Amino acid sequence: MTVITLDNVTKSYGAFQAVTRFDLETRDGEFVVLVGPSGCGKTTTMRMIAGLEEASTGSIRFDGDDVTLDDPKERDVAMVFQNYGLYPHLTVHENMAFCLRVKKWDKARINARIDEVAGALGLSGLLKRKPGELSGGQRQRVALGRAIVRKPRVFLMDEPLSNLDAKLRIAMRGEITRLCRRLKVTTFYVTHDQLEAMTMGERIVVMNNGHVHQIASPQEIYDAPADLFVAGFIGSPPMNILDARAAPDGASVEIEGISLPADPGLRAGLVRHGGEVVKLGLRPEHLSLGDNGLSGEVENIELLGAQVLIQVRVGTALIAAQFDRVPGLALGQEVTLSHLPGTMHAFDPGTEKSLTAGMHGQA
Ligand code: ATP
Repeated sequence: MTVITLDNVTKSYGAFQAVTRFDLETRDGEFVVLVGPSGCGKTTTMRMIAGLEEASTGSIRFDGDDVTLDDPKERDVAMVFQNYGLYPHLTVHENMAFCLRVKKWDKARINARIDEVAGALGLSGLLKRKPGELSGGQRQRVALGRAIVRKPRVFLMDEPLSNLDAKLRIAMRGEITRLCRRLKVTTFYVTHDQLEAMTMGERIVVMNNGHVHQIASPQEIYDAPADLFVAGFIGSPPMNILDARAAPDGASVEIEGISLPADPGLRAGLVRHGGEVVKLGLRPEHLSLGDNGLSGEVENIELLGAQVLIQVRVGTALIAAQFDRVPGLALGQEVTLSHLPGTMHAFDPGTEKSLTAGMHGQA
């Protein structure tokens, strides 16, 4: 169990900043997910924590000790990658034993440890096989097992599930989080998949272009995205972002000529932008058919089993809404979309920050 602190960490390659002023202090044994689009700096951050890249400025501490300049070996971190990194000529047992032999553990201790971890991961019957004789999911479990046998201070997992099929990914997500919770090892987990981040993370770090946009629990990120980037990135289908003119008293907004009452929580922020156009966010799952709201023609219908996802043309905007299936809903039909009270989001059109920032304790 280790508290990891990243203090104003920046990584530059020449004039290019891959990671800019990253600040975070984990809790003991916390599962932290780094999420963001390709190239946003997730892997670079992990590599700096591992000691494979040196931070250009700032410091990294493990339980208060500065490790910024320490070698990877001195940091006692275990990494798991998407390509597993197993030795193909060694059996599962030998792969898992490798680093314990390097540490000069005796044979009985190694075997006892491997039996324990293999049991937890459902690998007991596969210890004599080589990686080539295993499925992708089994190989991934061996890679995890090899990291776990060491009982490291920190796990670093970089897209470990991306080679697996969808069903196995879902099963492995649960397995990994359960295991890490039980072992209480502080874990950093990298993914570009927002759903994976939401389901696995105790806290999520949302990154883009090397910058941290928000660090919060999945629920906070969903309920109170700090800015327009987080609002659009987290949630599926993505949040509708609409241009809306704020009334001078902040009590209403006008979208495509339609006036909607503003959620009370937004009013103070909207008053600051009274008469201006702001970015208004409405999640599709918070919209449903109603009597008052945004009216327009249904342009697209997708059946999602028990639910339906529709797109409605309201002036120049195409608004997505997702709700329980309604019999008889047809293309071309005129409908009105109402939003669930308290689910409206608004963002400053210039800074793109949430107008409720601060009220939720966010930067
Ligand atoms: P992905 O999801 O595609 O793996 P990522 O978020 O992990 O992306 P990084 O690998 O951290 O992104 O890369 C961040 C940025 O830094 C990218 O623009 C990348 O091209 C750049 N970068 C990474 N390593 C180097 C390097 N050694 N020299 C120059 N630029 C680099």
